[in-house]
Amino acid sequence: KLNIGVLCLQGGFIEHFDYFNKISNQVNVVDVRYADQLDSLHALVIPGGESTVQGILLEKYNMLPALKQFILTKPVWGICAGAIILAEKLANTAILGAQELQQFSQPLIGGLKVTMNRNYFGRQIDSAVRKFTLTERAKTFGLSDVSHFIRAPAITQVDSSKVDVLATLEEQGKSPVIVAVQQSNILATVFHPEITQDDYTWHSYFLNMIRENFVKIERPTHLESLY
Ligand code: GLN
Repeated sequence: KLNIGVLCLQGGFIEHFDYFNKISNQVNVVDVRYADQLDSLHALVIPGGESTVQGILLEKYNMLPALKQFILTKPVWGICAGAIILAEKLANTAILGAQELQQFSQPLIGGLKVTMNRNYFGRQIDSAVRKFTLTERAKTFGLSDVSHFIRAPAITQVDSSKVDVLATLEEQGKSPVIVAVQQSNILATVFHPEITQDDYTWHSYFLNMIRENFVKIERPTHLESLY
């Protein structure tokens, strides 16, 4: 079985257990709260929630160094706050009128070569189910293009030599932003498929990423020539 960890420090972690168990009986979904659990995992989900709180807890429980290693080789999916924590660079979207972005710092894992604008779509009241546009590549995987945006960030810049854009969103009167990306083993979505009822497409996509990585890591080197 594949051990899929869900970081359960804060936020919307519980729904993922159900979603992964629904799409496969070959997975063991693990409640992750300590750094020493990471070694036994094949992949990790960093859920949505509040990235500042999650960051503080990750720092407090000294999980950041182990996670920085983890993301180098194993599949990781950051959702909303989880995507923020994986970002290399943050910008805070000023909600109260001012247009300029405030640069600020909070504990992060980093590694994902993007700039993430926190709270891009506004306050809690502006949270909504939104439709977005899949790129041609994402369409071939049958991913859904409707999901919940909850005080969501938006990706406003990517290092295109490393990061594949999977989905973009254009809101009236605003320039288009990126809402889902993949950088080799790292998947980041600013929306929450785990609460979009009966939509298992993003979980299935991540499970495929894990399976591919599993074959890569676990296959015995003496069989190399057979592949
Ligand atoms: N606005 C939150 C943050 O900045 C993210 C919200 C979410 O994860 N749904 O951390």
